[in-house]
Amino acid sequence: MSEPNDIPKQATLISEGVRYGILSAAQVLDEHLARVDEREGEIHAFNLVLADEARERAAEIDSMVADGLNPGPLAGVPVALKDNMCTRGIPTTCSSKILGDWKPPYDATVVTRLRDAGAVVIGKTNLDEFAMGSSTENSAFGPTKNPHDTSRVPGGSSGGSAAAVAAEFASVSLGSDTGGSIRQPAALCGTVGVKPTYGAVSRLGLIAFGSSLDQIGPFAHTVDDAALTLEVISGHDPADSTSIERPPLELRSKLLMGAAGLRVGRITDLPSGASPDVQARLDEAFEALAAAGAEIVDVECPAFGYGLTAYYLIAPAEASSNLARFDGVRFGSRVTAPDTNQMYMATRTDGFGAEVKRRIMLGTYALSAGYQEAYYGRAQKVRRLIANDFAAAYAKADVLLTPASPTVAFEVGDKASDPLAMYLCDTYTIPSNLSGDPGMSVPFGTGDGGLPVGVQVLAPALEDHTMFRAAAELERYMQTQQEGSIQ
Ligand code: GLN
Repeated sequence: MSEPNDIPKQATLISEGVRYGILSAAQVLDEHLARVDEREGEIHAFNLVLADEARERAAEIDSMVADGLNPGPLAGVPVALKDNMCTRGIPTTCSSKILGDWKPPYDATVVTRLRDAGAVVIGKTNLDEFAMGSSTENSAFGPTKNPHDTSRVPGGSSGGSAAAVAAEFASVSLGSDTGGSIRQPAALCGTVGVKPTYGAVSRLGLIAFGSSLDQIGPFAHTVDDAALTLEVISGHDPADSTSIERPPLELRSKLLMGAAGLRVGRITDLPSGASPDVQARLDEAFEALAAAGAEIVDVECPAFGYGLTAYYLIAPAEASSNLARFDGVRFGSRVTAPDTNQMYMATRTDGFGAEVKRRIMLGTYALSAGYQEAYYGRAQKVRRLIANDFAAAYAKADVLLTPASPTVAFEVGDKASDPLAMYLCDTYTIPSNLSGDPGMSVPFGTGDGGLPVGVQVLAPALEDHTMFRAAAELERYMQTQQEGSIQ
């Protein structure tokens, strides 16, 4: 008989245990649901907990194992999904009033792939409305709190998914990252968080924010768990025209390669803004990789600092177009009015929150006749400069290291009334969304207040495996440090 605390939290260990019949999926699920019962009230990671559906699925997985079948690489792994990913017949809200109780008629490709791999979907997680924000305070259903300190934000916009893993409600979760929404909350909650190469993971069924920037990726307890999950969800999807025609990413086989000979770039003209505690961790990360045999090289990315400005034209421009479909006719809630135009207006006025309205107005302005070239057009040129800078940097370096977030988790309410301060959270994450390159945050010790710090590893497009190789080395270093301090 195994005791509850014999149940591992890592997806790799859970799935192995379940496949070999050492653990039951039902037992793993119960353990996670018990933690949800205990702490969800104070954390609010979920918009919806799917306890019954998850129990049914876990029983199915267990009976497959009993029948000698292999349920897949994520057998019995409890997974949480950001609530902007479509789940058939299950409400998908984007944490917005406007979607009401809309139930999608189909599953997102990532959801199908997770289920086919034996995962158990445990719930839909809270987010900043339509993924616009960096603290999960912009949710129409109330904020999510950081499990490490509930007076702090979990980051955003995938704050619910980050918190769900950090609080061990789920073993892994999925988020979406348009400007940093996986990496920043991962950093603030002390989990691994990955934004893969644009096009590596299907966006079919991800409710679009900025279509040229959006990517789905995992949150996990370990680099290996993130690799496993990303291997499952990546790979070509003919139903997404921006999906790269390639087989699934191969990541896990590279994790033990070490850092010897790896060229690790330090961006000498990185925009300032990182607090001293975060900067100290970043410096330590360079030292750790150097000690493991990496070569540290200086690179320049002069346009990196313009990323934020370009993003806040391009992302709202795309959002203003994407969100035009929420008009009270096709999806969700409707406010009735005497004629169609008034109905559109009343529905959108009532249904969208303040930040979403701000983005729609910014984007509409940036695209309007007479301004399009001056704003949107110039932002696209900056986007090209950033991609060129990265390409030049990657001629000298295999990966780059930066902070994931400029600071540790801030207090709930701290930046809620100052959109610009909130936008600055994304300084280090946005450029790789603009270039389409992969980026991930790796937990790397703590900073002020004993709160988690994440180091960001960046790599060129389709070099996700090299990024994971460096991340695995950082994780190994941290484990050694922690073991050292326990002795
Ligand atoms: N915080 C950024 C924004 O508000 C990024 C959001 C995201 O990546 N979805 O747009």
